[in-house]
Amino acid sequence: MEDCIFCRIIKNEIPSQKVHETPTIVAFRDIHPVSPTHILILPKKHIPSVSESSAVDQSLLGELILTAKALASENGLEDYRLVINNGEGAGQTVFHLHVHLLSGRFFSWPPG
Ligand code: AMP
Repeated sequence: MEDCIFCRIIKNEIPSQKVHETPTIVAFRDIHPVSPTHILILPKKHIPSVSESSAVDQSLLGELILTAKALASENGLEDYRLVINNGEGAGQTVFHLHVHLLSGRFFSWPPG
């Protein structure tokens, strides 16, 4: 966990553009945004991925979605996409569970 980049951001060992913080959750701007708004929302608890979450994380997982909703609302975003990549094959590159809040451009479906 000490080498987890998101744990280091949570501990302010690495700078980030934080937009929201509670005792359990943090949100900051993605360093390589893929849309005009690209915010990452994550639990402070080090859960590597959705696959490695469990029933004890139920409330925390709910908080992630409700935080995304609140941040979207605060930023006046009506249309947005929430993404959770699970596993390398799905595009996960940082193994600390996080939700991408993406908005500000059109997103096609299905994704490429
Ligand atoms: P994922 O590929 O779903 O694991 O998403 C990881 C995201 O973390 C990518 O969109 C990266 O651009 C982003 N990221 C990696 N390092 C940092 C950092 N130091 N600050 C902010 N975002 C980062």
